[in-house]
Amino acid sequence: MMAKSDRLLRVLLLAGTTEAASLARRLADEKIVAATLSLAGRTANPIASPLPVRVGGFGGVAGLSGYLTAENIDLVIDATHPFAAQMSGNAIAAAAAVGIPLLAIERPPWTRAEGDDWTEYDSIEAAIAGLPATPQDVFSGLGRQAITALSKAPQHRYVIRVVDASEPPANLPHATIIAARGPFRTKDDIDLFSRCGISHVLAKNAGGDAAYSKIEAARKLGIKVHMVRRPAIAPRSTVTSVDDALAWIKAHHQRRSERGV
Ligand code: NAP
Repeated sequence: MMAKSDRLLRVLLLAGTTEAASLARRLADEKIVAATLSLAGRTANPIASPLPVRVGGFGGVAGLSGYLTAENIDLVIDATHPFAAQMSGNAIAAAAAVGIPLLAIERPPWTRAEGDDWTEYDSIEAAIAGLPATPQDVFSGLGRQAITALSKAPQHRYVIRVVDASEPPANLPHATIIAARGPFRTKDDIDLFSRCGISHVLAKNAGGDAAYSKIEAARKLGIKVHMVRRPAIAPRSTVTSVDDALAWIKAHHQRRSERGV
């Protein structure tokens, strides 16, 4: 059996974001580590990965700890979405349990710019409950998992943007679902919001560029944004860019090489 020291560093890359896809390409090009990309399996047609891919939950902290041990993983990179708090928390706990380093790529959240009309909320449910009682024209950028929550306010006319096409549920009689994958363009979102007479935008504070168009479009059109703040995640080592994550991985690779193993 190959000793841990005789082989390439083994990296688990928790994915589901543009940063994860970008880091996967860089790791595949550089070939200094053996990395596996992990997807939750939420989307029907995930972006093709140049790295080996595993799909589906691990089975909580215990399942992930078992996976890290069985696969001899040396480093965990958490490049999940800022709202994937369950996965991030599990990763922190499992990496600590197994005794291996974890690094998260954490995009800075969006901040208000001049002209933004935001109200911030601590949950998706609160952001929806904050809409006026009378029917409004609402764009939802909250994702597929929030559709159930929208049905608490079925009087509104919704335009719901999600990755995979589906029919709106029966309890949302005035909803239209648009299937599209980012990055989106501000110009297109201005056209969409104008065409649909959007009065409110529901958004999660994802940060990054790919989904920022709806925020810029709302600003330009004077539309109110109900912004969901990020969930709390336990303290961990973080970087804000793929470049910095790659540098961190390379530093670990270098340390191993210098130890002559
Ligand atoms: P979550 O609530 O934090 O995770 C729920 C469970 O799904 C986790 O406990 C884990 O199951 C499994 N899981 C999540 N991410 C995984 C991954 N990368 N690999 C393997 N299993 C994973 O996450 P979520 O908000 O449902 O998001 C799911 C995925 O979609 C994430 O990968 C995230 O990056 C991506 N995404 C999320 C959003 C968002 O707004 N939430 C937006 C864009 C992309 P076990 O406990 O069984 O291990």
